[in-house]
Amino acid sequence: MARCDQGYLCRVCDQEVEKLSESELYLRFVIGEIDPETLHLSPECHLHCNPILAQFIDDERFKNRPIAPEGFRLEDLDETYATERRNLVTRGYRRLLEIQANRKAFLQVHDYPLEELRGRWS
Ligand SMILES: [Zn+2]
Repeated sequence: MARCDQGYLCRVCDQEVEKLSESELYLRFVIGEIDPETLHLSPECHLHCNPILAQFIDDERFKNRPIAPEGFRLEDLDETYATERRNLVTRGYRRLLEIQANRKAFLQVHDYPLEELRGRWS
């Protein structure tokens, strides 16, 4: 996220998180797991640097999906949970791509979350 000149650094690899579509923080925001009030106070992270979350992204545009540690892999999880989680996280990822491609339609950060989650914090 190049919101300022420096951008935000990943808490795992210390490299800049340049794009919305590689931001773990914003993905968690659009799926309703982060309060907008704390969004800018929370540490950034690349999706690739959080395999436990990134493994749920089921979209061919997400390349080089990282492998989650043993015990946290999809096959280790409850199937219903894993399916629901995959649906939600994948929608969140597609939402990030949509926002990134069409910034004019998403001027306010409050418009970022998925429709059904948008009223959650207001
Ligand atoms: Zn990183």
